[in-house]
Amino acid sequence: MAANNASENARPKEPIVSPYMPKYPDPMSNISNFKIIESTLREGEQFANAFFTTEKKVEIAKALDAVGVDYLELTSPAASEQSRNDCKVISSLGLKAKILTHTRCHMDDAKLAIDTGVDGLDVVIGTSSYLREFSHGKDMDYITNKAIEVITYIKSKGLEVRFSTEDSFRSDLVDLLSIYKAVDKIGVTRVGIADTVGCANPRQVYELVRTLRSVVSCDIECHFHNDTGCAIANAYAALEGGATHIDTSVLGIGERNGITPLGGLLARMYAADKSYVMNKYDLTKIRDVENIVASAVDVTVPFNNYITGYCAFTHKAGIHAKAILNNPSTYEILKPEDFGMTRYVSIGHRLTGWNAVKNRVEQLDLDLTDQDAKNVTAKIKTLADVRPLSLDDVDTLLRNYHHAKTQGSHNKFLANIETPDMITDMA
Ligand SMILES: [Zn+2]
Repeated sequence: MAANNASENARPKEPIVSPYMPKYPDPMSNISNFKIIESTLREGEQFANAFFTTEKKVEIAKALDAVGVDYLELTSPAASEQSRNDCKVISSLGLKAKILTHTRCHMDDAKLAIDTGVDGLDVVIGTSSYLREFSHGKDMDYITNKAIEVITYIKSKGLEVRFSTEDSFRSDLVDLLSIYKAVDKIGVTRVGIADTVGCANPRQVYELVRTLRSVVSCDIECHFHNDTGCAIANAYAALEGGATHIDTSVLGIGERNGITPLGGLLARMYAADKSYVMNKYDLTKIRDVENIVASAVDVTVPFNNYITGYCAFTHKAGIHAKAILNNPSTYEILKPEDFGMTRYVSIGHRLTGWNAVKNRVEQLDLDLTDQDAKNVTAKIKTLADVRPLSLDDVDTLLRNYHHAKTQGSHNKFLANIETPDMITDMA
């Protein structure tokens, strides 16, 4: 293979695009043309720990606007007096993001929402047999007529309107398609598919969205719960199928264990079309809004979180470290600097390798040879069989070794250190 002869300069410095990507772009796919409807201030309010004051909502709204999300979705003004007031306050902030509120398919709710100054309404009604039997008790004719009445009214006021079914993946396909067709015909802005219970998988999502795409001409919004771990994958499959808008929340907070997380979706879409994502969104602002929301709802950012988890850019194994130091793309699909993060190569453990240790020698600007780095690495491995060493431990070991070497006693120095606790004793 030619790759074996590639010179140093010919090495790819960017994350390498997978050879399994389709050769020809799919004209129906929107992975390079999608919008985010950020629902932390609606779905996120349904998270067990959430209680947002008006001031906190404003802070979150501004932080999301700084990321560059296309829409902010707010709790229905029909929910409470404070919710109604918050819609007014956030609508008047003059953010770049359009402001939506989420309401039942009901004329009273629609009128209340329009008066708050929002840019659009996300209208929802349940269509699954469960919801029809155990929640609102209405049949499909009633639902369709109600939808047409409410949508026509909202449109007459010049606002965007989305019509979504609830629990779409457990609704009858013929019912779904006929109601979406009916609302598309009267000019709804978007139709929405919601996996309200988190039961769908990517293949089912792709197929339903593709089918819907061939039936309606309006935009398609998708909302995925994460009960069975598919919320990001389902969002991606929806965009591949022709969906145009994806609902997210910060850290995925929402009802039960939540929905597609904003950061995770952006990581996925960056891997699919980096330039689209980087031109449109400020990825370095993800961490700020996650910290604001995590503290507001009294949780910590998970250790394995996309992008911002504490180990998201930490490399440990010796062979990984060596390759990462040569070219980070070897083991990184996300470039930490694009997200305002930094890469960390962990070296104080028994899986370490001398290339990583040598790199640390250079960072500390110590005059040591490759053989010295190998000697110290062997000692780190022995000591780290007792317990992992901190970076401070490693630095102290290297500095003391360097000092001993100037006196010609470095071999004896290493031999004398028998336990990790003896490292600091030498300082
Ligand atoms: Zn939801």
